Amino acid sequence: MSKYPIQKSEAEWKEKLTEEQYRVLRQKGTERPFTGTYNIHTENGTYTCMACDTPLFKSTTKFDSGCGWPSFDESIEGAIEYIRDTTHGMVRTEIVCATCGSHLGHVFNDGPTATGQRYCVNSISIDFEK
Ligand SMILES: [Zn+2]
Repeated sequence: MSKYPIQKSEAEWKEKLTEEQYRVLRQKGTERPFTGTYNIHTENGTYTCMACDTPLFKSTTKFDSGCGWPSFDESIEGAIEYIRDTTHGMVRTEIVCATCGSHLGHVFNDGPTATGQRYCVNSISIDFEK
C-alpha cells in the first residue's frame, strides 16, 4: 500500500469521510444503485476523488448506462489503478484512485461507446467540480 502518494491512517480516513463514504471508499463497499447524487447528473465539469480531490473523470465521458451508478467510457489518464478482483465468484477489474488507493467501482469491457469501456463508479466515491 506504500505506493500511493496520499496515505492516511484508518483513523484519519474515518475523520475525513462520512461513515458511508468510508465503507465504500476504504472498505470496498457498494452503494445501492439509483441512489447516488451523480447517477443522473449532466453538468459540465470534472469528477474528482471524494477522498483526495484528484480529478478522475471528465463529464464529457459520462453516459447513461442504466445500471444505476455513474458511468464513464474513459478516465483521466493515469488517474485510475486497475486491480484484478475475483471476489463474489466473478472475475472483474476493480478501479481505485491511483493517488490514494480508495475504491471507486469496477470497469467492464461491454461499453456501448467507441472506447468499449464502462467505468461503473459509486456516486459516493466522487465529487464534482464545475
Ligand atoms: Zn483519491
